Amino acid sequence: MQVVQRVADIRNILKGISEKVIFVPTMGALHAGHEKLIQDAKELGGFVVVSVYVNPTQFGSGEDLLSYPRLAEADTAICEKNGVDVLFMPETKDIYGDGKPQIRLTIKSFADVLCGKDRPSHFNGVVQVLTRLFNIVKPDVALFGQKDYQQLLVVKRLVSDLLFPIEIIGVPTVREKDGLAMSSRNVNLSLREREIAPILHKTLQWIKSKAETARFDRRALPIEWAEDEAKKWLKTHEPDVEIDYIEVLNNDDLTKGQFLASNTHAFGAIRIGKTRLIDNIALD
Ligand code: AMP
Repeated sequence: MQVVQRVADIRNILKGISEKVIFVPTMGALHAGHEKLIQDAKELGGFVVVSVYVNPTQFGSGEDLLSYPRLAEADTAICEKNGVDVLFMPETKDIYGDGKPQIRLTIKSFADVLCGKDRPSHFNGVVQVLTRLFNIVKPDVALFGQKDYQQLLVVKRLVSDLLFPIEIIGVPTVREKDGLAMSSRNVNLSLREREIAPILHKTLQWIKSKAETARFDRRALPIEWAEDEAKKWLKTHEPDVEIDYIEVLNNDDLTKGQFLASNTHAFGAIRIGKTRLIDNIALD
């Protein structure tokens, strides 16, 4: 495995590659969720590039940019173990140059729902960094986790609107045994907070079970009712958790319908202490 930091170096390596280039962009602190993306990338049978870069433009002021875990050595070992061909670990000057970009992208779709509502500049930062990474790596295929479902939709839209010749693959969420979605931020949870954390997945499962029962009984359950009851259910079980949102939205365009249906997802974001966790499940 080659580990490179400079744009010129990775471009030089990729110039000589005739296989398909398969790309897994990450912010590091790699865990089994990232490993699944890398393993799926390997199975596609091309030249696998992983990037590790904590992108400052997707963090708002007051967010956890400084405390975001950085584990370069462990990340390198994980990539090596999984047969990655190139690990790209740029610094901010490699990606943003003098830091005064004169051209910015703004994402309009999905921008004012879910994480876009709480973190208004977040997805603009995501498309800023991905545009650069896609132009550097020029992948044929890129893999993203369904755990960040809204991000996956944004990336698909970025690729279709700007005509990047890249196939985007969404990989199902990898979870701990107790249902907690794996996340780099989980290492920031105290022992007590870690015990509480599965409540998010349980709440989304609670909505799913209501949707299933209603479907079985041929009853239409209003989404607003399900969201309100789910929030109450969560607060009854874990009063210390702050709820950013619990919402049921359409799979494709994140709009809200009236009733729980098989083309919807339940989405949630909560704060436990200083840590913000997100998750989602399909109600199909
Ligand atoms: P991050 O390092 O958090 O930016 O994540 C890098 C990629 O890994 C993104 O496409 C995430 O959606 C994906 N990812 C993160 N956690 C998981 C997980 N638990 N299961 C599957 N994919 C994940």
